[in-house]
Amino acid sequence: MICWFCSLREAQVKHTYGIDMYGEVDAKTTPAQTDVAYRVRHVDVPRCADCHRRHRLARFVANLSVLFFIAAIAALLAILLKWTTPLISGIWLGLAVGLTLAALIAAKLILKGIHSLRKSHKKYPEIQDLLKQGYRFGQRPKAGIPKADPPRKASDEGTSSNT
Ligand SMILES: [Zn+2]
Repeated sequence: MICWFCSLREAQVKHTYGIDMYGEVDAKTTPAQTDVAYRVRHVDVPRCADCHRRHRLARFVANLSVLFFIAAIAALLAILLKWTTPLISGIWLGLAVGLTLAALIAAKLILKGIHSLRKSHKKYPEIQDLLKQGYRFGQRPKAGIPKADPPRKASDEGTSSNT
């Protein structure tokens, strides 16, 4: 099978991008408790070793950009609150802003020519189908009492099996 992310190389099972989605939530509230039933579907997006490596690298670089951004905010505070001399906080701010931008650009370049994971969340056909059926990402409904999904249309019956 061809890798979905680059459409070039052969996908490898160990590099598959797997994601869980849940849906068909059915919440029944009785005075004593709320019973929530839902179905979990696992979607596998075929991926090659190279795309897997690039996704990992891009995520790492994106995380770095968040750190640099926090450093830039700290530099702004340093200037406003006069923690250091203006020269030092000025250099600090310039460096942090520069590194933030560099990391953002690097993450873009790393993913150049291949689909990002976020794109697969929107464009991979099986995921699109599940989203249309009201499925959401994750393995279980989030904290709080989830609302039951609207009843499914007759045409959707019998399309899901694995729980
Ligand atoms: Zn690939």
